[in-house]
Amino acid sequence: MNKNKYIKESFLKLQIELSEIQVEQFIDYFDLLIEKNKLMNLTAITEFEDVVLKHFLDSVLICKVVDMSQFKKGIDVGTGAGFPGIPLKIVFPWLDMVLLDSLNKRISFLDEVICKCNLFHVKTIHGRAEELAQISEYREKFDICFSRAVANLSTLSELCIPFVKENGCFVSYKSDIIESEIEMAANAINLVGGKIDKVSEVILPDTEIKRKILFFLKEKMTPGKYPRRAGIPSKKPL
Ligand code: SAM
Repeated sequence: MNKNKYIKESFLKLQIELSEIQVEQFIDYFDLLIEKNKLMNLTAITEFEDVVLKHFLDSVLICKVVDMSQFKKGIDVGTGAGFPGIPLKIVFPWLDMVLLDSLNKRISFLDEVICKCNLFHVKTIHGRAEELAQISEYREKFDICFSRAVANLSTLSELCIPFVKENGCFVSYKSDIIESEIEMAANAINLVGGKIDKVSEVILPDTEIKRKILFFLKEKMTPGKYPRRAGIPSKKPL
């Protein structure tokens, strides 16, 4: 298979026209992901077509529902092997991106990806969101915070919304979301200064796979006591 052609055509289904450099960056990312996945647990998805669809395209689906040109500083909380942060950085290169994860092996992998793909203005941080969000360099400093497959909405709101500036937004990627998860998170979202803005449903091209993308607006500053100490947001959701 011609990987270059496959990637180009796949992104075109989202009306994204990639340059040769961007296509090469995705191929380098894929090659490193598969190579390092033999040594550490990075992804259960390893077939080229599946990685393109379920990791690369899935990560950038957000552009179907929001204009990405309005954002400058972004943070991906619980980025794992770099999703959605790295594909977003490749497709929207003007983003200043922070990739945060509590597993150091994954952060070392991401450092190699950044080097191999020649990405600039991307910073990796090994740490817990609960601790990083209490540091003034990162607290309420981002236009947009992304998170995919990290925790339930209540826990996520406490981990992510403190990073966002007033009037910025937090975006949660969910495979499916039931109304009850939003209802259960309502208190947490309100306590940390957020408000649900919209829930968009997007279908992965040429499939029946539905994704829900939830947008939260940061209306007011987050009280200093949030997020609580490491582990508490997941053990005792607000
Ligand atoms: N976002 C990636 C994706 O969609 O493929 C990775 C998802 S993986 C299931 C969840 C990741 O979140 C893991 O790499 C884990 O180490 C990280 N994580 C969980 N809780 C965290 C926390 N409190 N602070 C930072 N990272 C966290």
